[in-house]
Amino acid sequence: MSDDDDDRSPTDHGPEDQLFDRERHIRYLEMNYHILPSFYEAQEINHLTLAYFIISGLHILHALDRIDREAVINWVLSLQAHPKNEDDLNNGQFYGFHGSKSSQFHSVDNAVSVPNNSHLASTYCALAILKIVGYDFSLIDSAAISKSMKHLQRSDGSFMPIYTGAETDLRFVYCAAVISSLLENWSGIDKEKAKNYILSCQSYDGGFGLHPGQESHGGATYCAVASLRLMGFIEDDLVSKCTSSCIIDVPLLLDWCLQRQAVDGGFQGRPNKISDTCYAFWIGGVLKILGASKLLNENTLREFLLTCQSQYGGFSKFPRELPDLYHSYYGFTAFSMLQETDLNSLNIELGISAIHHTLI
Ligand SMILES: [Zn+2]
Repeated sequence: MSDDDDDRSPTDHGPEDQLFDRERHIRYLEMNYHILPSFYEAQEINHLTLAYFIISGLHILHALDRIDREAVINWVLSLQAHPKNEDDLNNGQFYGFHGSKSSQFHSVDNAVSVPNNSHLASTYCALAILKIVGYDFSLIDSAAISKSMKHLQRSDGSFMPIYTGAETDLRFVYCAAVISSLLENWSGIDKEKAKNYILSCQSYDGGFGLHPGQESHGGATYCAVASLRLMGFIEDDLVSKCTSSCIIDVPLLLDWCLQRQAVDGGFQGRPNKISDTCYAFWIGGVLKILGASKLLNENTLREFLLTCQSQYGGFSKFPRELPDLYHSYYGFTAFSMLQETDLNSLNIELGISAIHHTLI
């Protein structure tokens, strides 16, 4: 792939766009690690998710030495919701992690029930961060998380993100699968029901929608395939192994994914949409799990992504715009899948780097 760098016309892009600029990306993440730009003020509730993009991004870039490991661990643990006693685990609430301090409500002694709005996505991000920094998972009360997570699964197999309700769809089935995988405790999820819900979301065109009957979408398709893989319902490299007995329609899914690579080399989330950096991971990741990544055009994908690489470091959603943490992170994951040098390899299903250490 790197051979192609020499073939590219110097007039196609600015000189700063020619190569993946690892050092500049590290500086971009370091800056966001120390001070989040005011742009993110409105996302206070998603603090853990933003931290996940920064810390996991630094890990992909081989630069985890830039963070204060103890401070990160203490901060993440401070966002955990704890049951007061064993009985609390039956009160219907979820005892996971809060997105930020602002969603924590402190109990008063005579309160009958203090709502805690710990969230499945925040819990996924918290556990991913703790895993990346090498925290000892035997110190986490995984039984409380798994036992209370059960209350979030609906009878149709889908998951609510918080115990008070809100939207239920494939994203939260995926969060529950990752949480169970990271904790190595699957007691919080009825896998058969979850599988049936996922299968009901595969559309006539081969992709998956967020709900049964909805239009296929790149993010939903990733959540479906990664969840099935994490739960052990499908194998890796399905394209070469899968027979007609496979629980999903692989040829149709493969066709839908490959058609999402647009003429500019980038991936679109749905038909007739323009290419967007993040779908290089959402759909590229599905192709990787299916064992079909060799079928996409890596050279043109790389060229598209480099038009979204910011001169300030990070990646933007569309070419030549300002970067944001979400698209930067999925730009880094895409380059990791494209086997850029000096990047950690990915665990595609978990959405983080492969972990080889216990401590840094
Ligand atoms: Zn996007």
